[in-house]
Amino acid sequence: MKITIFGSGYVGLVTGACFAEVGNDVLCVDIDEEKISRLKKGEIPIYEPGLEDMVIENSREGRLKFTSDVAEGVAYGLFQFIAVGTPPDEDGSADLRHVLSVAESIGRHMDDYRIIIDKSTVPVGTADLVRDKVLSVLAERNVSIDFDVVSNPEFLKEGDAINDFMKPERIVVGVDNPRTKELLRTLYGPFNRSHERFIAMDIRSAELTKYAANAMLATKISFMNEIANIAERVGADVEAVRRGIGSDSRIGFPFIYPGVGYGGSCFPKDVQALERTARKFGYDSRILQAVEAVNHDQKLSLVDKMRDHFKGDLKGKTIAIWGLAFKPNTDDMREAPSREIIEALWSEGAKVRAYDPVAIDEARRIYGERDDLELLEHPDETLKGADALAVVTEWMVFRSPDFDVMKSELTSPVIFDGRNIYNPDMMEQLGFTYYSIGRLPRC
Ligand code: NAD
Repeated sequence: MKITIFGSGYVGLVTGACFAEVGNDVLCVDIDEEKISRLKKGEIPIYEPGLEDMVIENSREGRLKFTSDVAEGVAYGLFQFIAVGTPPDEDGSADLRHVLSVAESIGRHMDDYRIIIDKSTVPVGTADLVRDKVLSVLAERNVSIDFDVVSNPEFLKEGDAINDFMKPERIVVGVDNPRTKELLRTLYGPFNRSHERFIAMDIRSAELTKYAANAMLATKISFMNEIANIAERVGADVEAVRRGIGSDSRIGFPFIYPGVGYGGSCFPKDVQALERTARKFGYDSRILQAVEAVNHDQKLSLVDKMRDHFKGDLKGKTIAIWGLAFKPNTDDMREAPSREIIEALWSEGAKVRAYDPVAIDEARRIYGERDDLELLEHPDETLKGADALAVVTEWMVFRSPDFDVMKSELTSPVIFDGRNIYNPDMMEQLGFTYYSIGRLPRC
């Protein structure tokens, strides 16, 4: 089948590569010409395990192509995927500028039946806006061409995106007629073989499903962080509580790790956007507001602990930061807790020496050269002369460090563990002052 994908970011590129991998002909379109010229040379602009090989192999086989020519994209595929960004606008609602700009391009250049598939995360009612946009451009052109609009939200996780796309837990498709439903079922057939994962529904429900999924996961995280904050105050250990409740099959273990809050390009903006959608429709969503507020405070909870430890004065202190990406296995620093922590430290006059296995270039792009930031190539280098270590992202490589080196390099053995990756008893035995989330400090 011939597929066009607008947007070659985390979602568009993975979608394109995976559809090509199962034999489709895919044309990826992006308005970022530099990104397209890099992709044509086989350079992958993002870090995503397995993606580079898949893109290079499918490009070599001629099944995966790239262009910045929008008209070429519209002419190419029966299936026209929209996988562009939907960032928050000033009031937190989803900014649909890019989505509607693609709809406009499709209306402008189509000359035959097309299925327009919205893969971007968009508020309920966006499919109607896309349809209206295409119809208005067709009317301007004085032509009448048949098309369908489908909602097909994406549930992949950065860091495991290929696996999520190739072996999805569910394929949610919002349609308004049986013909498109069957075409989408066929398109997704290769990813739906072992058992039925194709869940067809009406368009608005599909649009809401994506927000409901992300809001539910964000709620679990904020809920657990709240329990951690209570545990700290009442003298309980949230790790014990986590094991105690996770073993209840109705609750389960995923997404109940306490930490320094959720980040990334999805949860923060999607929780906000759903809350704004609810408000627009006259509903005051108290749970979503609380999820967001708890997360905001949680991102700074590690800095609060540092301030307390250093008797209210972080000025002149140097803090080693391990982990910049919003989670392991990605270089994505959008809304990452590390950013709030680093910026809070700077605002209090502290300096930062940071390491991340893959996000150093991204940090350099975001912050440029600064006197109060050193980006280093090895975790141990960050420790030299630092007053404390803060673990912000739970990369595997941080789990078993050389604690002797850590002790000898830090000016004093203090760890602020924002991901609870070390054992408090062991830290105590090793002579560290150890702060974590929801567990009492061990000195
Ligand atoms: P991204 O920012 O990585 O990529 C978006 C791409 O779209 C950019 O390369 C940009 O240049 C391009 N673009 C913008 N306007 C365009 C246009 N008119 N024509 C062609 N290309 C255009 O974004 P992303 O992380 O891939 O997210 C895309 C959407 O998918 C968002 O709505 C997001 O919420 C959703 N989503 C993201 C994830 C994730 O883990 N990143 C997971 C599921 C869903």
